[in-house]
Amino acid sequence: MTDIAAILTRIERAMAQETERGRVADYIPELGTVDPARFGIAAAMADGRVISAGDATLPFSIQSVSKVFALSLALGRLGDACWARVGREPSGDPFNSIVQLEADDGIPRNPLINAGAIVVSDILLAGRTPESAVTAILDFVRRAAEDEGIGIDTAVATSESDTGFRNRALAHFMRAAGNLDHDPEETLAVYFRQCAIAMSCEQLARAGRIFAFAGHTGPGSDALITPARARRINALMLTCGHYDGSGEFAFEVGLPGKSGVGGGILAIAPGKASVAVWSPGLNAVGNSRLGTMALEMLARETGWSVFGGV
Ligand code: GLU
Repeated sequence: MTDIAAILTRIERAMAQETERGRVADYIPELGTVDPARFGIAAAMADGRVISAGDATLPFSIQSVSKVFALSLALGRLGDACWARVGREPSGDPFNSIVQLEADDGIPRNPLINAGAIVVSDILLAGRTPESAVTAILDFVRRAAEDEGIGIDTAVATSESDTGFRNRALAHFMRAAGNLDHDPEETLAVYFRQCAIAMSCEQLARAGRIFAFAGHTGPGSDALITPARARRINALMLTCGHYDGSGEFAFEVGLPGKSGVGGGILAIAPGKASVAVWSPGLNAVGNSRLGTMALEMLARETGWSVFGGV
């Protein structure tokens, strides 16, 4: 049997040796204050165990990893009608690209880039105040992680709102194109706060179980999403979860995954484990440098790549 605890410890030791740790995102000023020396990894297994190494209980800003949870909720609310407003194709462009949106008449390529996630926030806002839409997202994440202690880092949310001019440009453009139903400021109030959810690797790995185990948090639990939805969100994570680094991540790691500029990555080994890794320094395409390296090592040592082999 694969000894996951030993593998995670080996990974954590190997990453501690790395001197080139990438660059901490500072375009959201509050994120720039995070210590680049941090590294944590956790795996939530099919038998209910959560195994971890390093700084796995320290909360960090999950940023774009939140997009898979918001999407789960939006699909639950609106079903396949969501796909009239957001596509399902990889963008091959940076996470906050504006160019494509104009060419595509305000329909974002997929729900895991910023423009697509802003549409998802708009769907979740229907019939609600921004506060109750955010509460719905937070409740969903708490239920998935079975942890009521998960919250929002309001300093990060304010910092992003104060400086989020590019996301405002995306939202206003989509409103002009008829693809936002609400005042862009209200939609962004949901989006910015959802991105500022803070979770530790252990909490995030537990929340990701719904994607690893066909909607369930564990054996015998009620499903939070249908198996078909979990499968489809995994497909989107594989093709679109790392922006224009998605092809490389599939090539090197071979697992559905979603990264965030806070340095977190959620990776799903279907039927086997939900894995969360965190290291704040990013590579050139905005994905955690050590987090990606750690997942490459994990995939090699476990043989968990969805493409088989080792
Ligand atoms: N809140 C971030 C933004 O909109 C999310 C980006 C990310 O994590 O990739 O810029």
